[in-house]
Amino acid sequence: MTLLDSVTLQCPYCWESIELLIDCSVDQQSYVEDCSVCCRPIHLEVMVDASGEPVVQAYRDDD
Ligand SMILES: [Zn+2]
Repeated sequence: MTLLDSVTLQCPYCWESIELLIDCSVDQQSYVEDCSVCCRPIHLEVMVDASGEPVVQAYRDDD
């Protein structure tokens, strides 16, 4: 079982594809991570589904 999984998603600010490492040992978490391209804070909500795959949603922090 891999606890860290990498996912690719689009930054909600600059729309660049960025890669994130997700800690799948936590069922549900939300945190803020700065975009590696534009450095703006992305609010992330992460859920791990029944098969252990992370489902990530990204929001702008200023909405
Ligand atoms: Zn960005």
